[in-house]
Amino acid sequence: MLRIIFYLVLSWLIYYLIRSLISGITGAGRKSPEAEGGLDDEMLNCPECATFFPSRIGITKRAGGGRRSFCSVACAEKFAERGGPPGAEG
Ligand SMILES: [Zn+2]
Repeated sequence: MLRIIFYLVLSWLIYYLIRSLISGITGAGRKSPEAEGGLDDEMLNCPECATFFPSRIGITKRAGGGRRSFCSVACAEKFAERGGPPGAEG
């Protein structure tokens, strides 16, 4: 049974790796080599729900003593209400 879970997690990881690789290739497809280092499509991790999202669709909000980017307004509001990341103590 544990074996099945291990393989599920492994295939999930591989799936996300391949996805990020493909989006990296297609994202850089039409760019000139001089435009490297651009931050227009940086992947961020939502501190509320741990989802990865492109920075351009993110919601930036002041919360927890600094500026943070969230995947959605709902996550930003949840985070601000709690005043910190989920599971944080102190
Ligand atoms: Zn989120």
